[in-house]
Amino acid sequence: MSQMFCFQCEQTAKGTGCTVGGVCGKTVDTANLQDNLTAALIYLARAVNASGGKSLADDVEAPLSAPEKSTCSSTGSFGVAGAIGADCTDCTDHTDSTIEAIINGLFITATNVNFDNGAIERQIEIINKERVKLTSQNRDCSCDDACDETGGYDMAQLWGDNEDVRSLKSLLLFGMRGMAAYAHHAAVLGKSDETVNSFFFKGLSALGENKSADELLSLTMELGSVNLRCMELLDEANTGAYGDPVPTKVGRSIDPGPFIVISGHDLYDLKLLLEQTEGKGVNIYTHGEMLPAHGYPELKKYPHLKGNFGTAWQNQQREFVDIPAPILFTSNCLMPVKQVYADRVFTTSVVSFPGVAHIGKSKDFTPVIDKALELGGYSNPKSMSVMNCGGDTLTDCGGSGNTLGSSDALTVGFARNTVLSVAGTVVDAVKAGAIRHFFLVGGCDGAKPGRNYYTDFVRQAPKDTVILTLACGKYRFNDLDIGEIGGLPRIMDMGQCNDAFSAIKVAVALSEAFNCSVNELPLTLVLSWYEQKAVAILLTLLSLDIKNIYIGPSLPAFVSPNILNALVEKFGLTPISTPEADLEKILG
Ligand code: SF4
Ligand code: SF4
Repeated sequence: MSQMFCFQCEQTAKGTGCTVGGVCGKTVDTANLQDNLTAALIYLARAVNASGGKSLADDVEAPLSAPEKSTCSSTGSFGVAGAIGADCTDCTDHTDSTIEAIINGLFITATNVNFDNGAIERQIEIINKERVKLTSQNRDCSCDDACDETGGYDMAQLWGDNEDVRSLKSLLLFGMRGMAAYAHHAAVLGKSDETVNSFFFKGLSALGENKSADELLSLTMELGSVNLRCMELLDEANTGAYGDPVPTKVGRSIDPGPFIVISGHDLYDLKLLLEQTEGKGVNIYTHGEMLPAHGYPELKKYPHLKGNFGTAWQNQQREFVDIPAPILFTSNCLMPVKQVYADRVFTTSVVSFPGVAHIGKSKDFTPVIDKALELGGYSNPKSMSVMNCGGDTLTDCGGSGNTLGSSDALTVGFARNTVLSVAGTVVDAVKAGAIRHFFLVGGCDGAKPGRNYYTDFVRQAPKDTVILTLACGKYRFNDLDIGEIGGLPRIMDMGQCNDAFSAIKVAVALSEAFNCSVNELPLTLVLSWYEQKAVAILLTLLSLDIKNIYIGPSLPAFVSPNILNALVEKFGLTPISTPEADLEKILG
């Protein structure tokens, strides 16, 4: 019998599952605790469903520092009102903290988020307290049969289930983990939505139920469409707080003097850090998925938001080893922290690693700032303009001498409003034959070999094609200078992974302009996946009936042959092969 079981990410052991330790660095103990946490979530969701507590209030805005204790009419730290069933008023004061417990619980178990057994145990305790609170309230209130079906769950049942059921339940669970990340980032900006919240209860409960493959497939499609709403919610939260992104050049050299590197996806943490470092002589550099932050007017207005440090997550153990600055992780992807730089790493929110300093709900980043001042930064400007393509050397990246043929700056900020503001130009260029095809080359980066496919694909894409991109997979090619078409850069960075919402809006607008369906557009999605947000986005695209998506670098271990066949048959999902063969197939 295996010591643990996990196959949720692309780098899973032998392409089948991690059973004696995670390739990501997750220990057996941590993996099993994460299973216990998921089982506790299923148990809680059953209790909530049994309570009739499905009718949450409409979108509400909530202050971050809202009180822990919720009431039917107040908002909580995640901005969810407590009101549920009208005939159940005595048992309605659980909901905001329940939602927070579920969203954080799911997010914590996503890949490269939390390696800290203590933190996971505390989250299990929070979840169990929510369940007990709910159950005892229901016993005292007027809800009929409120406490039926509130049984516990053992994840061994799921991992040992029939291969196709396990596959579909895994799609559902991992997709919810991805959606929870987006819901979390929206919630810290006070945005919450009943449709999204309710689905967590429904989806988690379904994991513990006997469902047919058809029922589960339909639930995964429902999750995909709910995740579209969730990404829209996060888009509203980010653009509402920080404005619509605008094209912005981002430097890749580090100035002399103290600095902080901030990684992850949480723009609110970045905003707080910018405020707290103002006038202190400490510069801020983004890392990984924080790069698109430079495009937001309310963030770029800070002159000490200087540029971007390094490349995608999988290079962090090499890139962080000797930098004279602290690094703050606001979400994934955190790799096991090497001792040599552990005293310079800080985590916040759901991210945690044993022995690494954690900034709690106070969001007082003074220890990070003090560390930056103590370390002092570089004495001279330091260039970071190598290795974005994922290679170790300039030669690996197709360059020679001291350059990759790329500029010193990356350009971000091509979110939906920017692209749609030039929609007329784009449509005319397509009609005139100047633009032959669009590719959305996006998704996660990762450590396993084979991802240079995406670099080569972009390099080899003909000059009359445009590359839209998002998420950290773009570090494979976002420093390539592949020119412009009609004054527009051929590579347009639409943002983080959740900005797949922007890409969908652009695709729909183009389909309206050309009076055709999205599938009839000269557009192909070439996706790279690694972790669970990519699963949620893929389900969203499939739920929109977007066909013929190319996916790589390898297929998820949790998709069984039968389920893969079903997806291939229904949606034309296509594993990547070689850039040459795929370009030929797509463009003819
Ligand atoms: S997250 Fe990925 S690498 Fe880590 S244990 Fe799970 S499957 Fe293995
Ligand atoms: S896009 Fe995915 S792989 Fe990349 S940093 Fe974000 S969570 Fe990690």
